Amino acid sequence: MCSRCDPKALLAESGLKATAQRVRVLGAVLAFQEALSPPALLAAIRWEGPMDKVTLYRTLESLEAHGLICRHEAGDGSVRYCAAGPDHPQHHHFFCQRCKRLLCLEPDAVRVGADVPGVEQVVVRLDGTCADCRG
Ligand SMILES: [Zn+2]
Ligand SMILES: [Zn+2]
Ligand SMILES: [Zn+2]
Repeated sequence: MCSRCDPKALLAESGLKATAQRVRVLGAVLAFQEALSPPALLAAIRWEGPMDKVTLYRTLESLEAHGLICRHEAGDGSVRYCAAGPDHPQHHHFFCQRCKRLLCLEPDAVRVGADVPGVEQVVVRLDGTCADCRG
């Protein structure tokens, strides 16, 4: 859980208006050390009242366009979102093939040599069994 970041402050810094929906969705993304699917995000914010899927997807799009969240593909092909931006540097992910969670790794947990001309981004996903599932 990221306790350092205030969704309202991050929205203000990014130039996005801090609407109630954006604060809710960004707050939910920041609350997890893993990348969540849209259905999981809906479940996470449900206690504050309902939000329809269209609103959620539109909100995720605007947050992503402003660099506050980042979209990733999990090992089952589904889309997941986790925190991005200056306080949340680019990092790689661990996909658990049992519980299907996509866990955020520390930024320097995986070192990949990208000694290839023209490379701008390296996307690495580790697939395996997470600590919880290993028991
Ligand atoms: Zn943070
Ligand atoms: Zn697992
Ligand atoms: Zn992540």
